[in-house]
Amino acid sequence: MNEIVLASGNKGKIDEVRDLLEGYEIKLLTLQDFPEIGNIKEDGDSLQENALLKAHSCYQLTSIASLADDTGLEVYALDMQPGIYTARYAGPEADSEKNVKKLLEAMKDLKSDDERRARFRSVLALYDGYEEHVFEGICEGHISMEPRGTNGFGYDPIFIPDGHTITFGEMTAFQKNLISHRSIALGHFQEFLETSDLF
Ligand code: IMP
Repeated sequence: MNEIVLASGNKGKIDEVRDLLEGYEIKLLTLQDFPEIGNIKEDGDSLQENALLKAHSCYQLTSIASLADDTGLEVYALDMQPGIYTARYAGPEADSEKNVKKLLEAMKDLKSDDERRARFRSVLALYDGYEEHVFEGICEGHISMEPRGTNGFGYDPIFIPDGHTITFGEMTAFQKNLISHRSIALGHFQEFLETSDLF
């Protein structure tokens, strides 16, 4: 069976990728299998650059085809911020609760769903030691006025995807995976797997 390392130690993300790769002859390893690696730097200027940086570093450290995801929440009224700063929006020591609080505060004067438009954008990069492959997924929606739901992770409790009235935090993992940015990007990755002779 072929192996891929997901360059992430984020449990929420790992569970989603594992679900979406079920049915493929691929053994998914993660940074939890390589505790010696620690945090991989992501200091690029775009989601794509960060995803590629992580995939390359992970490949160099493991010699196994490496898949990395970088995701940003882009709020239209904030000039597509936090974007690449999504993880550390409330500062270097930020956690999800602080990030969500800061974003809601920054948007407190924006009242309509339209003013609160936002999107999640995920870029997945695969580096197999020879070639880079990049897959993107976007999920459009808006930011709720307050957090709702305890499922998922990160900004899930404040993101309402288009066509829905509940947040990702109120959805089951199954519901979120049908429409999420990451599952769209992984769908493109799955299409690649169907046609590639790499795996
Ligand atoms: P990264 O892609 O792991 O760097 O994540 C960037 C930031 O986006 C972190 O704060 C994550 O918690 C958040 N994030 C990434 N994916 C999702 C998601 O699917 N839902 C909610 N927040 C997310």
